[in-house]
Amino acid sequence: MSIPTGHGLHHIEALVFCIASVGVLLFKQRSAFNANKLYRIFSRVLAAQLAFFVLMLAYVLVDPAAFNVIIIIVIHAAVLADLFVYIHYTDRLMHERNAALEAEKEAATAQSKAKTMFLSNMSHDIRTPMNAIIGFTNLALMDVTNTVKVQQYLGKIQASSSHLLSLINDVLEMSRIESGKIELDETRCSLPDILHDLNTMIIGQVEAKQQELFMDAMNVKHENIFCDKLRLNQVLLNLLSNAVKYTPSGGQISVRVIEVDGAPEGQASYVISVKDNGIGMAPEFAAKVFEAFERERTSTTSGIQGTGLGMAITKKIIELMGGTIEVETAPGEGTEFKVRVTFRVQEGKGADIKIASPGEFHALVVDDDFNVCDSTTKMLAEMGLRAEWTLSGKEAVLRARQALELNDQFDLFIIDWRLRDLNGIETARQIRASVDKSIPILLMTAYDWPTIRDEAIDAGVNGFCNKPLFTSELHNILKKVLKVTALPDMKSDQSKDAVNFKGKRLLLVDDIDVNREIAIMLLETNGFIVEEATDGDEAVEMVSKSEPGYYDAVLMDIQMPTMNGYEASKAIRALEDKKLASVPIIAMTANAFDEDKQAAFDAGMNDHVAKPIEIEQLLVALKKVLK
Ligand code: ATP
Ligand code: MG
Repeated sequence: MSIPTGHGLHHIEALVFCIASVGVLLFKQRSAFNANKLYRIFSRVLAAQLAFFVLMLAYVLVDPAAFNVIIIIVIHAAVLADLFVYIHYTDRLMHERNAALEAEKEAATAQSKAKTMFLSNMSHDIRTPMNAIIGFTNLALMDVTNTVKVQQYLGKIQASSSHLLSLINDVLEMSRIESGKIELDETRCSLPDILHDLNTMIIGQVEAKQQELFMDAMNVKHENIFCDKLRLNQVLLNLLSNAVKYTPSGGQISVRVIEVDGAPEGQASYVISVKDNGIGMAPEFAAKVFEAFERERTSTTSGIQGTGLGMAITKKIIELMGGTIEVETAPGEGTEFKVRVTFRVQEGKGADIKIASPGEFHALVVDDDFNVCDSTTKMLAEMGLRAEWTLSGKEAVLRARQALELNDQFDLFIIDWRLRDLNGIETARQIRASVDKSIPILLMTAYDWPTIRDEAIDAGVNGFCNKPLFTSELHNILKKVLKVTALPDMKSDQSKDAVNFKGKRLLLVDDIDVNREIAIMLLETNGFIVEEATDGDEAVEMVSKSEPGYYDAVLMDIQMPTMNGYEASKAIRALEDKKLASVPIIAMTANAFDEDKQAAFDAGMNDHVAKPIEIEQLLVALKKVLK
């Protein structure tokens, strides 16, 4: 056995050099491509080469004569293998990297396309009302003396500007939701309140289009829940205003709340359906209805105003609540949106709702919707009444008479106002003709009953229930009417809470002349005396120098140059004279987000009204603080 010398050693050096360079390459590769795969492959090649080298070395030690030939073959093979592996895998890697880059680029293009689309939609949607505002303002200016025309133009300007405002609000809302800035503010609330408020808000639009509105609650066992009332309201109002918008005059719209089984302990699940028999949507469009800015052609060409953001916002809010929304629709056949949500319920007061010993009272429910009859009779049964129902007014009259003959007369009638055959008031009149005055007849309606009250009372009705009818409310009404013969003070108490603003003095704080001018006009028309301050420090000075009680309230802008509204409010609250310091302050500002409201309350203000001013809202806020 001999050690290879001379020439042979060069070969070994070359081989070692070759392996070492593969090693260096490998080391470099590690970071250069961050290419795990290449790294792995090279490691293996290196290991194999080392093993081969050791094998050859052993062989050469045994037979030195073969050394030169073998070593040359090995070196060439090793170099070739390294080159091959290097080229092949680098190539593949480059390929993969390019593909990844390509995909990234495509995604970026899609995103920028979506952005461009968004901007072009926005710009179009903002330009349209803006054009109208500018155009009609010019027309009005050219024709100022013609009051009839000017009035027309102003009406159009008003409509366009309120559209523009809702568009801006929607876009802001959307971007806030998307950036995760919106959090739900869950408080104790009552479903009956939420639905009745919804009714109040929408009924004007429904009546303006001479549509019919049905609102029902079924099997609702949990009326008191924890939820974000404002957001839920927003969702429902969105669905309902769409239903009104996309349903022709004379159409029907219904809202139905059903409590369904299957909620976890301490929670309750509801299905809220908003249904109309309006223009409906094509299936292809229905699939996209929850995407931002999507509006179906039929709705855009029909000239119905909208931004196409309502449904996108609605869906996002429902998802935030952990719920779902689905749509069922067909062109010309109407649309039904179903929202499924689960809320925590307020720990049960579980008060006993029995008002009678079983069977003591006999009641008749009259409504042409079976589901309403079903749900109402169940509620009555829970309260201990023996309840029956009928779908028709005429039949109700006949059954009332028959019950008398059978000596099993009804002690209570609950009649829907909108019956198909004989309307509720007429049904009540005919029933009253045969039953005693002491038997209560209640009229159910989803409409504002003051408008029908006098007629109904004349027909013999002695109580009203608002639809949707909830157990707690029915319970309260029954407790009153089943003992008392007639409902007291039905004819009075209408304008009890009307506050007279005449002579009330306000301090209006705003740095912008136009804003003050508009506000003063609106307020003075409502009887207020208005004084002005153009900045926070001026306002603080005016309040501190005034007699306590001189100002009935302060309307405070927030963004002002030297002293802003928050600081000014804090300064007023810190005045020595307690009476002066407690003057009601209402923030009146374009900063309309929840955190702005919170900041206003934190600064000691009593309320918050968003700008541009909606006089009704401002009056409501003023009414609250001036009481
Ligand atoms: P806005 O943002 O002002 O609410 P919009 O009503 O046009 O505008 P969405 O509420 O998002 O926008 O509704 C999107 C589209 O879905 C509508 O333009 C309309 O084409 C269609 N749509 C929504 N609700 C109904 C419905 N009840 N019946 C028929 N089509 C509807
Ligand atoms: Mg809408």
